[in-house]
Amino acid sequence: MTEQIIFYILLGIITFDFALERTLSFLNNRSSKQPIPKELKGIYDDEQYVKSQNYQSEVSEFNSLSATFSFVLLFLAIYNGWFGLLDAWVRNFSPLSLMTPLIFFGILFVVSDVIGTPFSIYRNFVIEAKYGFNKMTVRTYFFDKLKSCILMLIFGGLLLGTLVYLVNAIGRDFWLYFWSVMTVFVLFANLFYTTLILPLFNKLTPLEEGELKNAIHLYSEKVKFPLTNIFVMDGSKRSSKGNAFFSGFGKRKKVVLFDTLIEKHSTEELTAVFAHEVGHFKKKHIIFSTLFSISLIGLMLFLFSRLAYMAEVSWALGGQVSTLHLNLLAFGILYSPVSTFWGIIGKALSRKNEYEADAYAKETYAAKPLIEGLKKMSSDQLSNLTPHPAYVFVHYSHPPLKERINAMER
Ligand SMILES: [Zn+2]
Repeated sequence: MTEQIIFYILLGIITFDFALERTLSFLNNRSSKQPIPKELKGIYDDEQYVKSQNYQSEVSEFNSLSATFSFVLLFLAIYNGWFGLLDAWVRNFSPLSLMTPLIFFGILFVVSDVIGTPFSIYRNFVIEAKYGFNKMTVRTYFFDKLKSCILMLIFGGLLLGTLVYLVNAIGRDFWLYFWSVMTVFVLFANLFYTTLILPLFNKLTPLEEGELKNAIHLYSEKVKFPLTNIFVMDGSKRSSKGNAFFSGFGKRKKVVLFDTLIEKHSTEELTAVFAHEVGHFKKKHIIFSTLFSISLIGLMLFLFSRLAYMAEVSWALGGQVSTLHLNLLAFGILYSPVSTFWGIIGKALSRKNEYEADAYAKETYAAKPLIEGLKKMSSDQLSNLTPHPAYVFVHYSHPPLKERINAMER
């Protein structure tokens, strides 16, 4: 009886998620068809604007197709009890032990990767290429894939292995112990992202001597930001889209500018972007968002500990016996409304942080070059100038360009 209810709740949640996403995406695509807002006049000429709208539509249609495909597949898998069948098959040659969940999720990972690959190839080598964004060679694409798989195998395997061990060894309180493990992992990933992970994919070089370095140097002396940690990343290896970001904390903090950003922007614009990134550091955004994610992981693990030993959850997925991996998989779906809710809160906080970093750049440097820089970045990336408010509410980690400019001009 209980497993019947859980079964329908699982199907209900994935159907609701799918319907919500498709609705938001539909609204957003329709909203992108509006004329250029008056604040942003001149950002595109007519021909470029049509091109950006076509790009938006094409990406949206493609996402819709791939989301529908995944939804149908997941629905069928739950409806027909395929996860239960997979579990029975895995337990045939790996009777319940530490290894079974690792093999089970390993197979799911490989299957979903194989299914996802044609979609990602089409996205990069057809759509992105058509609009001149893709700079990736097939070789880079496959090496990226190989490296991500190895990282996934190492980190995913270690974390999952630890979780399975703790669940078996400790019982219901495992979540507290695993939370500590995850906290160490998140802090470690934050501290060492630019030194250990990123260099596997990209080359980071210190900013070279010249006008830009002098301008940034002058600015950082004024705001007392140590200059040793500014790097240029070869983003051009994959895409022509420019970007910049801030990473790490304490002594390991770093500002990374993409070479594609430097190429297209003036020294003043780049210094303003740099000032924005310094703003994230000065306003302690990285620390707060890290603490926010760590708290959410705690909540998630606590909720999982309430479900981890319930046999009905495994049965709902078609399992014949209660297993940790089936429960974990079902929990991933049952938790998704909670994660959507906290995702919306997190995105709202992130948008607030962006306004603060913009304000900091305006205060300590100037608003005009930042506005010009953001406009240029937005038109170079063919971004949607008129996203739908509901879509922004759920998905945008940065406020729409128009609102950022309005806030800075106020
Ligand atoms: Zn920012």
